[in-house]
Amino acid sequence: MKRYYQIISLILVFIVSCSTLKIPQTNPDIDQKDLFNHLSFLASDELKGRGTGTPEIDKASEYLAKYFKNLGLKPKGEDGYFQKFKVTTDLKLKENNSLFVKLNSQEINFTLKVDYQPTGFSGNGSVEGELVFAGYGIEAEDLGYNDYSDIDLKDKIALIMRYSPEGDKPDTKFGFKVQSNFKVSAAKNKGAKAVILFTGPNTVENDKLISLVPDPAAMNAGIPVVSINTEKAKEIFEKAGLDLLAIQKGIDSLQRPNSFKLQSSYAKVTVELEPVIKETRNVIAFLEGNDPQLKNEIVVIGAHYDHLGMGGRGSLASSKEPQVHNGADDNASGTSGVLELAEYFSARKNQLKRSLLFILFSGEELGLLGSKHFVDNPTVPINQIVAMINMDMIGRLNENRLTVYGTGTSPKWKPLLNKLNSDSSFKFNFIDGGFGPSDHSSFYSKNIPVLFFFTGTHQDYHKPSDDVDKINFAGMEKVLKLVSGVVTDLVSNPEKIEFTKVQGEAPQQGRRMNIRVYVGTIPDYSEQVEGFKIAGVNDGSPAEKAGLKAGDIIIKFGDKPVKNIYDYMYAMQGYKPGDKVDVVVLRNGQEVKVVIELGSR
Ligand SMILES: [Zn+2]
Repeated sequence: MKRYYQIISLILVFIVSCSTLKIPQTNPDIDQKDLFNHLSFLASDELKGRGTGTPEIDKASEYLAKYFKNLGLKPKGEDGYFQKFKVTTDLKLKENNSLFVKLNSQEINFTLKVDYQPTGFSGNGSVEGELVFAGYGIEAEDLGYNDYSDIDLKDKIALIMRYSPEGDKPDTKFGFKVQSNFKVSAAKNKGAKAVILFTGPNTVENDKLISLVPDPAAMNAGIPVVSINTEKAKEIFEKAGLDLLAIQKGIDSLQRPNSFKLQSSYAKVTVELEPVIKETRNVIAFLEGNDPQLKNEIVVIGAHYDHLGMGGRGSLASSKEPQVHNGADDNASGTSGVLELAEYFSARKNQLKRSLLFILFSGEELGLLGSKHFVDNPTVPINQIVAMINMDMIGRLNENRLTVYGTGTSPKWKPLLNKLNSDSSFKFNFIDGGFGPSDHSSFYSKNIPVLFFFTGTHQDYHKPSDDVDKINFAGMEKVLKLVSGVVTDLVSNPEKIEFTKVQGEAPQQGRRMNIRVYVGTIPDYSEQVEGFKIAGVNDGSPAEKAGLKAGDIIIKFGDKPVKNIYDYMYAMQGYKPGDKVDVVVLRNGQEVKVVIELGSR
């Protein structure tokens, strides 16, 4: 089979070089050769990884639109098949960026990108004023803790430590209040005109400047916000005759704030950032149903077609050199799946009672931007959308394990999936929640029942090695036959498609885990087990050196038992890079002990 694809691949390279947008001949059934042709074009080096905002992703979108057109589907974008929107792909440092601090007439100068850097959520501007130390910048009256109670921040520049008196623990009682964005909002509310963030010397963390990468989830703070390194922070306090480490240790050990104005202090913070804004587009096509009533109910079939381009943000490549991140599985696989289903249902349009809307999203890797844009600016009445089926990474079916998110979002889902899988050829991993790491989340947030099909993560995830030759095309065909069964039921069964809200689930926009040590394990979410199961290890990582293998289940890390991913993250907290940790794994049912020498992030 592999050899067959290599030959096809050579032929395809030839076709692509003659005319990039030649759409290959296709078969109206769900067909591996069609999938191979679509996927090989999308994941080709020529498309340079389909980075949002690049000319290459636009070329991909033209291919998609042309394919929909050839099938005779109706355009349902705003500009034919396209729905354009703008994204901030980057932030550029302009000339006017500086930081200057003076204490008791002693000057401290900062070097950009070395000692300090504006944060990706900073506002622009130049301000000067006195410095006030606001501890961790946490206001938590319910816990009897408030860093702001004894200080006046009006027109001052706030010096604020990252994390909390509990260190960088991921499950701190202070919750989301430890987020830098949140702290900056609090300081601004107290009148601060700029914020300087740093990691205190008593906090167990790799000291790094906060990234300049724009976070679509975080708003522009409206005031200048910079981060400085721990050494420079210590120097500021030293020049004021104070010992920062001792001050922080006092706050941490007593869990009592110690905020104050730095006497005879002056700072000037100047930030000038320019967002790099690019236009990109979703590709949308419509296939109308035949039932006079039910055709007003629309089922969306979607996938994202963007990926990481030449790397950078989101890349897990060991080398930082730009390389094509082909994204064959993520998500040329799901994109090809949508094309194949579009073809399949176009050939069977007489059987459709409800209507189908095919959407290929851009900007997913930057934070589900295309699907958010669509649900906020829908090109069909959003209350007519009765279900959304998402496919993201369906190209690596392994041992027939298929993960399906959203199974709790309609009472219909589990019985239907189990019925279609009555021969049990798939080993399902059902996750009830409708929020998850892909575009279906945007639809679930509008109370639309969702399903998200996913064959699981792997060692090539977000790396240049996510290539066509690693795709399981027979597996894709099998997954798509299942999905076509689900969609067939949705478009032909007159029964109402009901929505259910999954209890106790919050959107995944909470705090990130802040772990300073690096192990290099790739989580396997395909199966629920007691322990932390790994799909593999990163090349050259501490986990690889320790001999961990795909399929291992970590059950003990140091002296802490591990029952799930949170236990695992928590167990890492007390360690620093270079520490050696005894780790117990279950391998083929046997307990195996390994020693991992931890690396740094
Ligand atoms: Zn991805």
